[in-house]
Amino acid sequence: MEAIRCKRCGEESPALDKPPFQGDRGDRIRAQICAGCWKKWLKHQTLLINHYGLDPRDPKAREFLYSQVDDALLGDGEAESVDPSKQGGIKW
Ligand SMILES: [Zn+2]
Repeated sequence: MEAIRCKRCGEESPALDKPPFQGDRGDRIRAQICAGCWKKWLKHQTLLINHYGLDPRDPKAREFLYSQVDDALLGDGEAESVDPSKQGGIKW
């Protein structure tokens, strides 16, 4: 299995079998992000989808998720932190 130096965790880790997206973004993820970190990212993405009530079929929602990938995973920015305990708004 091919190993890469993962940008996210800094370890030599197995790469994804294939790019998770078509095109340049998918190639960059496969080259820079290990399979384990990508799995964690997918969990984080599920949190984002639930938190913001996103519909992944909505092109605008997809754009938002891609921008999160670019900033948080491939860029140097931190992932926008979502606190699952605050899900459902401010009433409690
Ligand atoms: Zn990693």
